[in-house]
Amino acid sequence: MVKAIYPGSFDPMTKGHLDIIQRSSKLFDEVIMAVVGNPGKSPLLPVEKRKELMSAALKDLNGVTVDSFQGLTVDYAKQNNVTILIRGLRAISDFEAELGMAQANKELFPELETIFLMSKAEYSFISSSTVKEIARLGGDVSKFVPPAVNDYLKQHFSRGTK
Ligand code: ADP
Repeated sequence: MVKAIYPGSFDPMTKGHLDIIQRSSKLFDEVIMAVVGNPGKSPLLPVEKRKELMSAALKDLNGVTVDSFQGLTVDYAKQNNVTILIRGLRAISDFEAELGMAQANKELFPELETIFLMSKAEYSFISSSTVKEIARLGGDVSKFVPPAVNDYLKQHFSRGTK
């Protein structure tokens, strides 16, 4: 059984993330979509809420589970017997950071292979930060995020929480 992990902040999950996980689920028997909840970043959504919204978006997808962890991705991968790490690539600007991370992870855990899936053209400009900024300013992000995320953002920002 080939198991893979797709780690990220997913703050919040977008349709770009959804596309990557849907395509990954066709390539591997099991894919763990894992929220990396390391302190340091100031997220909009608590980890548990991010997981809840991801589970809602993934409910019809077989072979995908949602989890979270703190610490190094390589440690999480070792503990869960995973040797494939999935990342999405949108543009050249993603490449440099992703290359560095993949190389560092390879040093720390040589059996781990990072597999990159290229973003679909229609999602290549979508990022969690862009989505949050548009939603914060009252814009419609329904085209960019799964329905449950859209509902959450609408409710969150209509409460005047900026
Ligand atoms: P991180 O903070 O770990 O980069 P993100 O939630 O921003 O977490 O992204 C997780 C992964 O998904 C990264 O590999 C990122 O490049 C990829 N990704 C983000 N947005 C998209 C998108 N629109 N299309 C394809 N991949 C994406």
